[in-house]
Amino acid sequence: MATHTPTRSRHASHHTMRPHNDAPYVVYSTPDGDVGERQSLRAIDYTGAPLQPADLIPLPVGATLSMLPQRLAVGLDANGQRVTIPPRRGWALAALLPIGYTRTLLPGYDKTPESEPLPFFGYTAVAGWRGRLYAAAIRTDAPDRWLPDAFPLRKLERLVQERLAAEPENRVLAHHAHCALDYRCPTASNLFFRRWEGAVAVSPGCNARCIGCISKQDEDNLVSPQDRLLFIPSVEEVVETGMAHLEQAPDAIYSFGQGCEGEPLLQARLIEQAIRAIRARTEKGVLNINTNGSNWRALQRIYAAGLDCIRVSTISARRATYDAYYRPLGYTFDDVKKSLILARESGVHSSINLLCFPGLIDAEDEIAALVDFLRETGVQLVQLRTLNIDPEVLLPRIPKPEGKPLGMRMLIEALRRETPEVELGNFTRPVRRGKEQAGGSSRA
Ligand code: SF4
Repeated sequence: MATHTPTRSRHASHHTMRPHNDAPYVVYSTPDGDVGERQSLRAIDYTGAPLQPADLIPLPVGATLSMLPQRLAVGLDANGQRVTIPPRRGWALAALLPIGYTRTLLPGYDKTPESEPLPFFGYTAVAGWRGRLYAAAIRTDAPDRWLPDAFPLRKLERLVQERLAAEPENRVLAHHAHCALDYRCPTASNLFFRRWEGAVAVSPGCNARCIGCISKQDEDNLVSPQDRLLFIPSVEEVVETGMAHLEQAPDAIYSFGQGCEGEPLLQARLIEQAIRAIRARTEKGVLNINTNGSNWRALQRIYAAGLDCIRVSTISARRATYDAYYRPLGYTFDDVKKSLILARESGVHSSINLLCFPGLIDAEDEIAALVDFLRETGVQLVQLRTLNIDPEVLLPRIPKPEGKPLGMRMLIEALRRETPEVELGNFTRPVRRGKEQAGGSSRA
């Protein structure tokens, strides 16, 4: 499993010359794993543009700092010249944000000839300013239930042990115990804490080949951060795990379609049977599916079986961008749209998992297409998801948008203005089908 090298957020300031007109300045990761700063250099983003205070928020609680190996920290001097910090001083630095925040800018750096592709994480631009660390991000939802502090490891280890001892035959629990303890996956861990959104993976196979797939990568020098599920659970295992969660968990959501599996719709029959069996025994909680929305016929049966919520993953509403990223096998973007339209017609709460990559999805033509897509499909919630990928892995494989990038903040403003009925956030709501979200829609 690819790991990022965390950097301690203790300032070790070399060359503390006078800050550059009080502008955000360069910070980097020192060889000792500390945060170094160069106040004489103006911090820049991936495009080379200087970071403005208005782009930044204080580094959020729950964020981690990540060194970017073999990437030189870089900034602008007083004459606006690009200056790199020598490798003996350290490497470029980025932040990894907790759920509840959306990245707005990519980190700036210069690659060295030795640099390998970065592990699949959501690298976010960081800077120092007035002695504190800042990140290029915007808060887009309430992060509390997703922060590391909400998942105390000792307690999790005990709960996993007790549960597996009580249900030694349940392979679904055993699989998600691995995800909870080895990847600290919040939805896997919630199965053991018996609360909120719990995971259920069912599909080893997939009918897409996403460039940024976190459970399967085909190219030699790209390593997926998670192992993919290797078995197909039985309906009974899925139902029993689900019943235990839905009956006992506050704000219970039982979610098919996790990062540790392929496409759940390849096991549509199993999901349909499980949902029917669960709803025959309890009306409690919410049944959700995270999917690429490739098979609307199968989804129609799953909607009829009693599904409450659907979240369809997409990086774009433009076919060219969608096809280049998902590399779909045997389905088209029209099938994805139809799945969402049918969800709305069936009273199923619909959202998209919008993979966010600054410089791509915030381009004029991408924003315009997204607004049309939301109006056409009747999607009720846009979940903003920072895309976990090395820019140099993604950008060469995706056609450049025609329009110029307007910025992630402009994208969010455009959605608020053009589709005010659509909620913005970062995760699925516990909404039963046919019901509006308790207390009406909340706007991030
Ligand atoms: S749909 Fe999911 S599992 Fe399939 S390739 Fe894409 S990210 Fe991977």
